[in-house]
Amino acid sequence: MLDFSFSEEQQAFREMLREFSLKELLPNYTKWDSEGEFPRHLWKRLGELGVNGLRVPEKYGGSGADCVTTGIAAEEVGRGDFNLTYAVMLNGLISDIINNHAADSLKQKWLPQIASGDKVVGIALTEPAAGTDAAGIRSTAVRKGDRYILNGEKSGISAATIGDMFIVFAKTDQQSGSRGVSAFIVPRDLPGMECKGYEDMGNVLIGRGSIYMSDVEVPEENLIGLENQGFSQVMNGFDLSRLLIGLQCAGAAFQSLDETIEHVKTRHSFGKPLAKYQGVSFPIVHHYTHLELIKWQAYRGLWLRDQGKKHSKEAASVKWLGPKYSQEAIHECLLLNGHYAYTKEMPLEQRLRDVIGLEIGDGTAQANKFVIAKELIGKEYKPY
Ligand SMILES: Cc1cc2nc3c(=O)[nH]c(=O)nc-3n(C[C@H](O)[C@H](O)[C@H](O)COP(=O)(O)OP(=O)(O)OC[C@H]3O[C@@H](n4cnc5c(N)ncnc54)[C@H](O)[C@@H]3O)c2cc1C
Repeated sequence: MLDFSFSEEQQAFREMLREFSLKELLPNYTKWDSEGEFPRHLWKRLGELGVNGLRVPEKYGGSGADCVTTGIAAEEVGRGDFNLTYAVMLNGLISDIINNHAADSLKQKWLPQIASGDKVVGIALTEPAAGTDAAGIRSTAVRKGDRYILNGEKSGISAATIGDMFIVFAKTDQQSGSRGVSAFIVPRDLPGMECKGYEDMGNVLIGRGSIYMSDVEVPEENLIGLENQGFSQVMNGFDLSRLLIGLQCAGAAFQSLDETIEHVKTRHSFGKPLAKYQGVSFPIVHHYTHLELIKWQAYRGLWLRDQGKKHSKEAASVKWLGPKYSQEAIHECLLLNGHYAYTKEMPLEQRLRDVIGLEIGDGTAQANKFVIAKELIGKEYKPY
């Protein structure tokens, strides 16, 4: 049997979020960017609507929804405010990691606060000398009695300036490569933690930045999963975030196409609506087709994850092409709307800046092609 339909419940959730996104998020999307303010009240509002707790089990205050439903949230929030899709992606990724691998006491402490939107959480893997080559991280976590002492610098971290807690990857075994990495829950307010923001081109209010750890002490229970297994256990979560990112970007691009279709039906040149010219309608069709392909590959990947089936290759394909197709579509929409779209009066220039960030964040195209090549051709042909 092959069935591409969403359940009635999923459809109702999509409709509710579409309305919320277009009525309550979209009108202020550019305001937060221009004022450089993080709208924490909207993050909380997403919690009330059940968006933050989709991957949090009911007993910890979430809805325990499936991954496909989480994808719907990414797509629909993306229509109204691309930056707030980080609530879907970061919370989905981090809730899955905590729920699957963390100690019970940590689940009880963090999952309800993630679901409600009271706490903002981030994930800190990248370092100044290790991005694509993530196994090359140098931050260390040294065991001392019943605690770990963390030292090092994380860079490029989303929510560095607004986050209350980070999942931090650090080396617990200096001798082995990726096998010597462990993941820890590290609250931001611990002594020795310092976070500094960047002046980014997009995703401004998400406060990307660097985290400096100087003798930060965490209890041993903050280790997530087994020591030295951070990569093999915890990084499987990135298959979820990659699929969600494809839908976040596609949501912003679909909204741009919808707005552009309205524009070309009403704007005239040479006595006719722009929409009558194939030089205008074909680019719209071109990008719509790309976005539909990405959307369905993303939902297929999420469905595979829900079934407990392999989906790394699918996730990597969506992460590689989703942000790329979306920024191309938004760019074209900007051109089709003419010079006003080049101003900050319209959301298109910001969508373009915002979406481009996720061509890099969570792994570049090349990093994702490694994943696909490894599965398609064989891991013995990996370049590293
Ligand atoms: C918007 C945004 C959000 C982010 N959020 C987070 C976050 O929350 N947490 C986090 O840990 N990190 C985050 N990052 C960092 C991101 O994951 C890294 O920037 C990314 O993995 C690339 O690493 P790098 O910047 O060090 O580039 P490098 O690894 O130095 O790569 C530079 C270029 O070389 C290419 N390249 C590298 N190696 C190869 C190779 N072997 N073959 C071919 N090409 C190669 C890359 O594809 C890239 O184009 C974010 C980045 C951005 C832009």
